[in-house]
Amino acid sequence: MQDYIEAVRGRVCAVCIDGIFDGKQQFVCCGLPDDRTCPIEVYLPEVINVVESIDSPRMEDYVNVLRDNVCSACEQTEDGKCELRLHADCALNRYFMLVAGAIEEVRSQQAN
Ligand code: SF4
Ligand code: SF4
Repeated sequence: MQDYIEAVRGRVCAVCIDGIFDGKQQFVCCGLPDDRTCPIEVYLPEVINVVESIDSPRMEDYVNVLRDNVCSACEQTEDGKCELRLHADCALNRYFMLVAGAIEEVRSQQAN
């Protein structure tokens, strides 16, 4: 799991609008308020399962499974809405392609 956490930090936190950066633009820490935890962190094992369970060139196929397996257990309402997503305030949704890329990178490193 540590490899995945580091890959996400390197690819996603490094460009996240909620990150705090030093004068050299190096990521320092997550800047979300204390009462919030990034869904990437909360659901990382489930997100890894989503990415591993799909083999498709269409990102939409990944997103559909993400909605079913992760969002349904998170903030999403029964009619499929999420206020955080609506306001582009979910890093997992905003950067899902980068998250999926980080997971794929670790998987391919582990396969070699
Ligand atoms: S919101 Fe998530 S992706 Fe963004 S800096 Fe915090 S932990 Fe990283
Ligand atoms: S889009 Fe909403 S429901 Fe899905 S992970 Fe983000 S905050 Fe949770």
